[in-house]
Amino acid sequence: MAAIMDGKALAAKVKARVAERVRDLERKPGLAVVLVGGNQASRVYVNGKKKDCEECGFYSEEHHLPAETAQEDLMALVRELNGRPDIDGILVQLPLPEHLDEREVLLAIDPNKDVDAFHPYNVGKLMIGEQAFQPCTPAGVMELLDEYGIDPAGKHCVVVGRSNIVGKPQAMLMLQRNATVTVCHSRTPDLAEECRRADILVSAVGRVNLITADMVKEGAVVIDVAMNRNEAGKLCGDVDFGPVSEKAGFITPVPGGVGPMTRAMLMVNTLTAYFLERK
Ligand code: NAP
Repeated sequence: MAAIMDGKALAAKVKARVAERVRDLERKPGLAVVLVGGNQASRVYVNGKKKDCEECGFYSEEHHLPAETAQEDLMALVRELNGRPDIDGILVQLPLPEHLDEREVLLAIDPNKDVDAFHPYNVGKLMIGEQAFQPCTPAGVMELLDEYGIDPAGKHCVVVGRSNIVGKPQAMLMLQRNATVTVCHSRTPDLAEECRRADILVSAVGRVNLITADMVKEGAVVIDVAMNRNEAGKLCGDVDFGPVSEKAGFITPVPGGVGPMTRAMLMVNTLTAYFLERK
């Protein structure tokens, strides 16, 4: 039976560590979150970030802009936030409404305030192993592995999904930690066979029960990044949790696994940004 990797408990520990460091600072680190329009889920995320900031002793502010906001107005806000000395981190909640150019907005964020690490400058830094910020979700996964004493070095890590925000940076972080990495995606011919080779399997797809027990090696570490709703409307990941947890050595639950870690790593990145500002 797999050990459950408790992301909720670890996230609380990580935030407590951040709060501890903030206590002695002469100024509170500041995070600005920008939400344009936004569905219910985005609003929930933004409220969560506000709560995390309070727990960590950060200053935070939210900018809720109407869905019909013009590109130029959003760009002006980003430029203003770039210039504010009390704001260390800027997070523009994605996705943006269709009419807005997401790429242009992300490019406009000062790379030293880019706490999501989505700016091409920070993506490039990650590629060469000189990153100041690690993208929050894959960084949260690495933190979970460390907490449970799992060293990726020499292990075969299979990442399912190749998005810019999860799959690709996850593969880079695993590589930096000396894992042998395979990245799978929708065109991978035999996903089950690739997954069975994994000592560490990270699934970031968004499909209920994509990863079944027959795809998992005995004793493997199974990390479920996905956040889906099943037919009953219940939050779940990509992994068929019950049967897989009988075979895996370690497994993350959904909810309570990677999700809380993503939030906690945003706080870590905001603190990092504070120190970058002061350099
Ligand atoms: P995404 O941009 O939609 O990417 C999904 C990836 O899965 C793509 O690379 C796609 O391949 C691949 N894929 C789709 N069907 C597949 C299949 N049948 N077999 C193998 N690969 C397949 O999604 P994302 O933004 O990376 O998010 C992935 C999941 O993680 C979602 O459920 C999302 O909600 C969740 N998420 C959770 C957190 C968290 O904090 N826990 C954070 C971010 C995202 P192609 O590239 O070939 O299309």
